[in-house]
Amino acid sequence: MSEDVKRMADLLKSGATMLSDVCPECGNPLFRVKGDIFCAKCNKPVVYARATGPQATVSQSVLLETVEQTIVGKISETNALLKLEKDPEKMSVYSNLVFGWLSTLEKLRSLRDSERES
Ligand SMILES: [Zn+2]
Repeated sequence: MSEDVKRMADLLKSGATMLSDVCPECGNPLFRVKGDIFCAKCNKPVVYARATGPQATVSQSVLLETVEQTIVGKISETNALLKLEKDPEKMSVYSNLVFGWLSTLEKLRSLRDSERES
């Protein structure tokens, strides 16, 4: 697990809320921590003006893309594990995970497509 992913997990555990806006610097989702906006990737508070109008749509599609990349990464990680796994029980756990991510991916993509059309 990379440092920023660990930080995101810690932020969520400590009660931070994941926002639908992304960091203007790195494009990762931002978190609200006790009234402050924080980027887990840059590891610093972010001061930003809440985007309105067309810009909000841009940041949302960037977010969807970020999520999609994360899921694609997870699928390939799990696939690598699945390839080496001999235990049928674990194999079924892994394949369930992959299946779940694939359906999430499908939803994400249709969400993005419908956004593009509107
Ligand atoms: Zn950032």
